[in-house]
Amino acid sequence: MKLILNNKVAVITGGSRGIGKAIAIRLAECGASIAIIYSGDADSAADVCSQITGAKAYKCDVSDFAAAKETVAAIVCAFGTIDILINNAGITRDGLIMSMKEDAFDRVIDINLKGAFNMIRHCAAVFAKKRSGKIINISSIAGIIGNAGQANYSASKAGLIGLTKATARELASRNVCCNAIAPGFISTDMTAEIGEDNPLMASIPLSRMGTPEEVAELAAFLCTADYITGEVIRIDGGLAT
Ligand code: NDP
Repeated sequence: MKLILNNKVAVITGGSRGIGKAIAIRLAECGASIAIIYSGDADSAADVCSQITGAKAYKCDVSDFAAAKETVAAIVCAFGTIDILINNAGITRDGLIMSMKEDAFDRVIDINLKGAFNMIRHCAAVFAKKRSGKIINISSIAGIIGNAGQANYSASKAGLIGLTKATARELASRNVCCNAIAPGFISTDMTAEIGEDNPLMASIPLSRMGTPEEVAELAAFLCTADYITGEVIRIDGGLAT
């Protein structure tokens, strides 16, 4: 299916690497103008921009409410509007509950969950005014089935699902769709330590990790879908079936 996003402006948090980078490239192929947000790795952000005509990179810690507001304003100023928000920025700080430091819990919730809220909060007025918009939150199957050693991450990703459903209901009257994607194991820096020979692979019915490009294709589809909202779509090779 040919997906067309001509004249759309897409903001992708964490668009400098991994899944976010693949989404930025795919949405650009569909015709969208691209703004990516990164937190520290300027070289990777510049590399993505060098691959996409007209793309701009913005350094911003999405967990910072005021910084997110300034960045959204800067993007609207540069591009004229925002049509698509992909909340993809995320981190892990794994550990067992009995030894997890308070800071590890707080930081993961702050970036993965509050960061998505911050971006939705600041983009919502733009979407409401133009009576259209697409929001996609990158959750995880950890938010659906939980993952031992990832209480903070699983909680943040489950929270994103609640945020997705509440946002979908609240902004539906403004013709804004909000959905979540729940990937399983996807080959990126985040999963670099998991090799294809890892015993985890045996628990994936399709017997392999997914690729960032496969997640990007689903994101691009959701950006064009006008009658899907409040949905959570797994892309996990059957892992959480
Ligand atoms: P990567 O670690 O490869 O990339 C993370 C991206 O997020 C980078 O661009 C990074 O920018 C950015 N980022 C991190 N912290 C912040 C912050 N505070 N503010 C703004 N940007 C930030 O991650 P993946 O591509 O693997 O994962 C992308 C998303 O998909 C995450 O939300 C992750 O939880 C989710 N996911 C990933 C899975 C996987 O198997 N890989 C499975 C399920 C879900 P910088 O480099 O500048 O810090």
